[in-house]
Amino acid sequence: TTALTVDDVTLTYPDGTDRLTALDRVSLRVTGGSIAAITGPSGSGKSSLLAVASTLIRPDSGRISLETPGGSADLATVGRREAAALRRSSIGIVFQQPNLVPALTAVEQLEVMAHLGQRLFTSARRRRETHAKAMRLLDSVGLADQHAKRPAQLSGGQRQRVNIARALMNDPALLVIDEPTSALDTERGAAVIDLVLTVVREHDAATLLVTHDRAHLHRMDAVYRMVDGRLTAGSG
Ligand code: ADP
Ligand code: ADP
Repeated sequence: TTALTVDDVTLTYPDGTDRLTALDRVSLRVTGGSIAAITGPSGSGKSSLLAVASTLIRPDSGRISLETPGGSADLATVGRREAAALRRSSIGIVFQQPNLVPALTAVEQLEVMAHLGQRLFTSARRRRETHAKAMRLLDSVGLADQHAKRPAQLSGGQRQRVNIARALMNDPALLVIDEPTSALDTERGAAVIDLVLTVVREHDAATLLVTHDRAHLHRMDAVYRMVDGRLTAGSG
């Protein structure tokens, strides 16, 4: 079974001579194939939660356990090197801005993910497999026919779909997604949410989704609201 369990996590940032509490004893659990949506006002701690869940920031205290069929890891205490390896093998991250590499085509954006952490020279067979997988994923986000385009030749919605496909390239057990629709109009935002729902089910990823988009909350498996670093169940 696959699951993310966040247990009693606190995170503070330096704030002059004081500390600012960004996460105040936060707990939640989300299992593979499910989406926990996080809403709440700006500055309430939503991005901080995604950052600690994806090993980008280490919390002050608490436990963050990622269970996968291959074993379990405590993301709150892993060292830098192991955290980097976990992000490559088990965690997909989708930021608000797609952050695609301007010089690479859509399919290359995905291939690069698979080659990170591998030897510099991979076999021709391995490269063919990687290419085939990248094409399958692009197809699943409706972009097979755009695979040779660079980011500048794609629309905003298309870039966000490449971003999502790229995060799935290494079959992550955990997917964290930060406001994927904020740069899109209502219709294209809805299409991206549809896509997220489909791929999360297909790939059995435990998913944290930060969204302001209240129209889609009823389609999520659980909804939480963050206020001043405290997480409560329900959309408020
Ligand atoms: P949200 O994603 O809900 O907008 P954040 O997690 O970005 O909230 O921020 C939570 C609080 O932590 C805010 O008060 C923000 O100003 C503060 N904060 C976020 N990142 C840092 C940082 N790197 N250093 C200091 N304070 C930060
Ligand atoms: P699509 O038609 O596929 O949704 P558009 O290029 O029409 O894509 O962009 C949709 C919206 O997203 C527009 O409001 C646009 O200004 C905005 N947008 C497009 N690309 C970006 C980007 N890289 N960063 C921020 N906003 C963007």
